[in-house]
Amino acid sequence: MHGYPRQGPGRELKRAVEQHWAGRTGATELLATAAGLRRQVWRTLAAAGLDEVPGNHFSLYDHVLDAAWMVGAIPPRHAAAAPPFAEPGSPEHHLAVYFAMARGTAEVAPLEMTKWFDTNYHYLVPELGPGTVFRADPGKPLTEFAEARLLGLTTRPVLLGPVSLLLLAKPAADAGPGFEPLTLLDRLLPVYAEILAALHAVGAEWVQLDEPVLAQDQPPAVLNATARAYRDLTAATDRPRLLVASYFGELGDALPVLARSRVEGLALDFTGPAAANLPALASLGGLPGKRLVAGVVDGRNVWAADLEKALATLATLLGLADRVDVAPSCSLLHVPLDTAAERDLDPQVLRWLAFARQKVDETVVLARALREGTEAVAPQLAANRAARASRAGSALTRDPAVRARAAGVTPADTRRAARYAERAEAQRARLALPPLPTTTIGSFPQTDALRAARADLRAGRLDAAGYRERITAEVREVISFQEKAGLDVLVHGEPERNDMVQYFAEQLTGFLATRHGWVQSYGTRYVRPPVLAGDVARPAPMTVDWYRSAAALTDRPVKGMLTGPVTMLAWSFVRDDQPLADTARQVALALRDEVADLEAAGAAVVQVDEPALRETLPLRRAGHADYLAWATEAFRLATSGVRADTQVHTHMCYAEFGDILRAIEELDADVISLEAARSGMAVTAELSAAGYPLAVGPGVYDIHAPRVPGTAETVALLRKALRHLPAERLWVNPDCGLKTRAWAEVRPALEHLVAAAREVRATLR
Ligand code: GLN
Ligand code: ZN
Repeated sequence: MHGYPRQGPGRELKRAVEQHWAGRTGATELLATAAGLRRQVWRTLAAAGLDEVPGNHFSLYDHVLDAAWMVGAIPPRHAAAAPPFAEPGSPEHHLAVYFAMARGTAEVAPLEMTKWFDTNYHYLVPELGPGTVFRADPGKPLTEFAEARLLGLTTRPVLLGPVSLLLLAKPAADAGPGFEPLTLLDRLLPVYAEILAALHAVGAEWVQLDEPVLAQDQPPAVLNATARAYRDLTAATDRPRLLVASYFGELGDALPVLARSRVEGLALDFTGPAAANLPALASLGGLPGKRLVAGVVDGRNVWAADLEKALATLATLLGLADRVDVAPSCSLLHVPLDTAAERDLDPQVLRWLAFARQKVDETVVLARALREGTEAVAPQLAANRAARASRAGSALTRDPAVRARAAGVTPADTRRAARYAERAEAQRARLALPPLPTTTIGSFPQTDALRAARADLRAGRLDAAGYRERITAEVREVISFQEKAGLDVLVHGEPERNDMVQYFAEQLTGFLATRHGWVQSYGTRYVRPPVLAGDVARPAPMTVDWYRSAAALTDRPVKGMLTGPVTMLAWSFVRDDQPLADTARQVALALRDEVADLEAAGAAVVQVDEPALRETLPLRRAGHADYLAWATEAFRLATSGVRADTQVHTHMCYAEFGDILRAIEELDADVISLEAARSGMAVTAELSAAGYPLAVGPGVYDIHAPRVPGTAETVALLRKALRHLPAERLWVNPDCGLKTRAWAEVRPALEHLVAAAREVRATLR
C-alpha cells in the first residue's frame, strides 16, 4: 500500500503541531509525538497482516513539502526565516524553516497551496528557478526507515518521483519568463540517485517512487523526460529495487514508457475508470520480469470493496506479471481512519463502509485469496457479499419516488423558459437596481460568538430556540449594516451554516454524517465530509425561514443562498453504485424545490454557488465534455424552474477558467461572481474576448488577505472592468464570502466598495 492517514486516532498530530506553533512545546517533543504516531501505524499495518509495510508516508504537514525539502529546494526567504536563537542543523532550526515554507511568517509569504489532483487534499507548491541548487537530504526517509527497523519491519520507503516533483512545482518569482521546472531534471536526478543509494545502504530492498502526474495527459516532452529519468535512476549499481507508482487514473501513453524501463516494479490503479489499465497492460504483453502492485481496493471512496470483482481482476493480472501484489489504488490519506469509531451510524449501514483500517483488511483478504485460494477466505467473501446485497436492496439507496422523478426530467426542465435578454428586461423592471449594483457573496464574518453558540447547542448548554435567537440577532446585525453601508442586493450572512455543504447535507435524505470521519484538507486542517449514501430528497425547506426573517427586516432585495449540486458532490464522499450524473440530478431536483420555495417566499434573487465546478474536472481531457455536460445540466435543473423576473446568480471562486468558459456560459446564470481582484480584473478581458453574454461580478475585494482596499483602488479596478464589459452587465462585489474575515476589515472594505461603485456610476452615460 502507498500510505495511511497521518493524524492519529484522536487527531493527535493536529494538536501536537498546533501546540508547537503556539510555542507551548519544543521541537523535540513534537518530533517524539510524531514518531509515536508512526510506530502506531506501522504496528497496526503489520498486525493486520500486510506483507510489506510502506515507509516515509508520514508528514508533519505535507508530503510534497517533504519532497522539496529532501532535494534541498528551500527558497532563500524561508531558509533565512529561522529565529536567531535556533542553531543551524538543530531540530528547532529545521522545524522553523519547514513551517515557514508551509505557513509563512510575519515577514515572508509561504509556498502557494493548491489541490492535489482531483482530491480535496491540498499540497504546497515547490518554487524552482534556474538558480535552484538541489542537495540530497535523505534524513526523513532514513530516520523513518530506522524507526521501523526497530520494530522488526523492513519498510518500502515512498518518495515523490522526480518527474512529478518538477511538474507539481512552479517557477520561482525570479525565475525569468518562460522558465519550466522540468528543465531541471538533469540536475535533480543525481540527487535522487544519492538518496536511493543512501536508502540502499541502510537495507531498503524496495523504494517506491510516486509519479501521479502520469495519470494526466502529458506531452511527448514529459514522456521522454520520464523515460530518461528512469533510465538514469536504474543505471546505478548501488540502489534498491524501484517500484514506480501511479494512481487516480489510467496511465495511457505513459504505460509503455514505464513498462519498457528497467524499473523492477509498477504500481497501477485498477479501480473505476482506471480499470482501463488492465486491457492496456494486456495489449502490451504485460510486464514480464517485473512486479505488479495491483491497486484493486479503491483508496479514495469510503465503500466496502466488491471483493469478488477485485478477485476477478487479480486473476486476469496474474498472467501479466512476474509477481502480483494486492494494494489499495492510492494512499489512504483521503479517507477517514476507522469505521469502528462511528458508534452513531446504523450498524447495518456501517457494514457498507470501509475506511482506511477496513481497506487494509480488504487488501489482506484479497492477498490471502490469491495465495491460498478463495476457500481460505470464504467467510470474509460471504460477509462482503451480504453487506453489498444489503446496500443494494436498502430503502436508503433506492427511493422509488426520487427515482421516478429523476427519470421523468425532460430537456425543458433544464432550460429557462425565457432568453437572457428578455429575463434581464423583466429583472430590471422588478428589481429597479442602479447601474453597477453592489452585493456580497453570501457569508459575513463567522465570529467567535457564533462558533460558541454552535458549541453550546451541541453541548446542550443552549436549546434550539436560544440558538435561533442568537442567529436571528446576527442576521439583524448583518442586514442593518448592509443597509447603512448602502449595498443594493443584501444577504442574510449565512450565520446558521457551519459549512456550505454540511448545512444542506444535514437536511437532505441520502446523506450520512460521521462523527470521527476526519480527513486531511491541508496541514493541520481536517474536514469531515458527509457520505452521500442514498437517494436524495428534501423533506422540508432548508433555507426559507432564514430568508424570510432577513427579508422582513428590509425593503431591499435579499438573495436566497444555496450550494449547487456539483459542489455538494465534490465535497462529500459520493456513492459508487450509480453514475455521478444520476446523483447530481437527484441533488439538483431537491435544490430546484428549494429555489421554487424561495421564489414563492418572495425572493427576487437566488444564488446557487458552484465553487467546485472547476476542481471536479476529470484529470484527462477525454473526460471533460461528458463531465461538463452533466454538471451544467444539474445546475440548470436546479435553477431554471423560476420566472423570467427572478434573477439567478452563481458564484465560483477561481479565476483561471479559460478551458471551461463555454461550460460557464452553459450554466445560463443571469449573474456570475468570480475572483478577480488579485489578477487586476484579468478575467473581464477573457470573458469579453469569448463573447460571454451574461452579467458578471468580478471581485474587487481580495478576501484572502487581511487588507482593506481603498476607494480609489476599487474605482480603478471598476474602470478596468468597464473597458471589457458594458455597465449594464457589470456587478460590484468582493471575490468570495466574508466568513474568514473580521468585522473590523469587512466594515470599511464594503463601505469603500459602495463608495467606489457610486463614484463610477456618476461618470456613466
Ligand atoms: N456563499 C458562500 C459564502 O459566501 C460561498 C463560499 C465559496 O464560494 N466557497 O461563503
Ligand atoms: Zn468563493
